[in-house]
Amino acid sequence: MQTLLEPLLQKEFLKNIFSWFQNHGRQDMAWRKTRDPYAIMVSEFMLQQTTVGTVKPYFDRFLGKFPTLETLAGGELNEVLALWSGLGYYARGRNLWAAAREITAKHAGRIPREFEKLQKLPGVGPYIAGALSTIAFNEPAPVLDGNITRVMLRILAIEDDVKLKAVQVILRKAAFDLSVQAKRLEERFKTLEKMGGPRSLSLALMDLGATVCLPRNPACEICPVAIHCLARRFGRQNSIPIPGEKAERPTVRRLYAVISRKGAWLMGQRPKEGLFGGLWEFPGFDVPSGEEPIPFLERGVFKETGVPIRVKESVTAFEHQLTHRIYAVRPFIAEISHRAGRWRLKAKGEIYEKFRWIAPAAISRHGISAITKRILAESKVEPGD
Ligand code: SF4
Repeated sequence: MQTLLEPLLQKEFLKNIFSWFQNHGRQDMAWRKTRDPYAIMVSEFMLQQTTVGTVKPYFDRFLGKFPTLETLAGGELNEVLALWSGLGYYARGRNLWAAAREITAKHAGRIPREFEKLQKLPGVGPYIAGALSTIAFNEPAPVLDGNITRVMLRILAIEDDVKLKAVQVILRKAAFDLSVQAKRLEERFKTLEKMGGPRSLSLALMDLGATVCLPRNPACEICPVAIHCLARRFGRQNSIPIPGEKAERPTVRRLYAVISRKGAWLMGQRPKEGLFGGLWEFPGFDVPSGEEPIPFLERGVFKETGVPIRVKESVTAFEHQLTHRIYAVRPFIAEISHRAGRWRLKAKGEIYEKFRWIAPAAISRHGISAITKRILAESKVEPGD
């Protein structure tokens, strides 16, 4: 049986998907209307694990503040994280900033167009390198995001776990071969500039996955490449991809202390490396099982920050889900305990590398963690005197 790994079928496939893309491609995104590699790079960092609708306002704000790679490289990480606040996965923001600095230092401020060079930049894995090579520079490269992977698995009727190395090799080869063919097609039919090329291919496959080849109930009857799809031919489109094994996520109890003084909150900044890196938050601690939360929090805050506190009341508890764990968050409002006598805020602790009293008006200039943002929003706390 012939498959998409064969060149003749690839050409046919490309013609079908390009003509569909011309009429049905999604053009309403700011990062699709530009050829500026920097803007495309920003969008690709933001779009990892995040939907188009969520990214749109963040993208506009980010480009408003940092319109060029040069401005980003010259900016402060704090400003970057503040703009990233609420978007989650903050490592992306830190890496984007670090990548901009590295491009400035090592590539004279020009984003490399080669897949291999791109992959050496901070936070740039095979997906972003492929997306940048193809979308920003129209260079052939394998691009496999979640949508494209699903489309390719179905077209090739692969019923094995996508995490298997052998499956990855097949997908990458198919994706790269298609991209190379797209480049050839474009060069051969120069007059049909809009119709071909690695850039159009990446965007078309993304759109096909997002609007037609959906995770559930793919719309095969309107699919422009149904004729090439083995899953459809075998009636397996609803069972591919096969479900992966879900890892158990542990639940961690985390306590936060909302402490205020002279109209400002006490916040700590996490070290740049690691979870919530570089973000500011209310002092927070994971509480081991068997520990009483309130005494544990009071002791923990004093040891970490040097500020003696007394917990006054609890505010709304909630869950915060990460890919690898779930935080059961319990915030408490606490006051400074003057019975403890003289005290001094430490410069840094074991968990936080800096402490600061931050007034509400200054919050937007700091990158704050999503948990702290939610504590602020749900409890509507105001700093006291
Ligand atoms: Fe997806 Fe169906 Fe098209 Fe195959 S025919 S690519 S399963 S939408």
